[in-house]
Amino acid sequence: LQAQVKEQSYLKELGQMSASIAHEIRNPLTALKGFVELIKSEAPAGQENYFSIMDQEFQRLDSILSELLFLSAPRKSSFKKVDLVALSKEAIDFMQFEALMHNVILQLEVDEQLPHIIIGNEGRLKQMLINLIKNAIQAMNNQGNISIRLHATAHYVQLCVQDEGVGMSEEAYKNLFKPFFTTKDKGTGLGLPLVKKIMDDLNGSIEVESMPNIGTTFILTFPNALTNQVIVQHGNVLPG
Ligand code: ADP
Repeated sequence: LQAQVKEQSYLKELGQMSASIAHEIRNPLTALKGFVELIKSEAPAGQENYFSIMDQEFQRLDSILSELLFLSAPRKSSFKKVDLVALSKEAIDFMQFEALMHNVILQLEVDEQLPHIIIGNEGRLKQMLINLIKNAIQAMNNQGNISIRLHATAHYVQLCVQDEGVGMSEEAYKNLFKPFFTTKDKGTGLGLPLVKKIMDDLNGSIEVESMPNIGTTFILTFPNALTNQVIVQHGNVLPG
């Protein structure tokens, strides 16, 4: 519990610090982008490649800054009732093209017995789902299925994102939610800390099950908005 409290205050501090850093970086970055655009039209032939690299790197910096600002947004901003089925469909639609490009099939399975209504910020929840699906696609070797499953009880709503990817090492497993931890060449290591923050803010919990070369499942448990139960349990399940 102590470690958890420490981690939460660390995330809070990181959030505040990252907001000021992100703002400080955004202004000079905008100026740089503007001047690069300006000299692009007068650049000697053969230098197009430099400009496309600069463009890509600007985009990367932009996405890091957006993630940092996202991490620092105030807790419980614009919370309302959200239907996780509709939201999952939107996130799947959004990721469909990337899935196709990687020859991966996205499947949605809904247990229709009860509605899947939770309370949260719609935009952030959608971003969270997109992060999980993106990670799942990146873990697969250009083949296989990702299933997104929804199940509700009177007390909670559960969402699983299961991939058939490479799984993760013990080290990755332990550091998943640490800001800036990444095993990818072009990763930011901010996707999962964001998922954790969003789940913490709505009193949900995350479990992760992962087996090398079999796949990984992220299990997110939300309080059911229709009964308003609060879940206090947090944490991970060790890989089997
Ligand atoms: P990034 O995707 O930028 O690396 P994340 O915080 O989203 O940042 O993920 C951190 C790390 O967790 C990844 O670099 C990867 O090693 C591991 N990871 C996340 N999701 C999965 C997954 N579905 N399968 C295997 N490893 C994963």
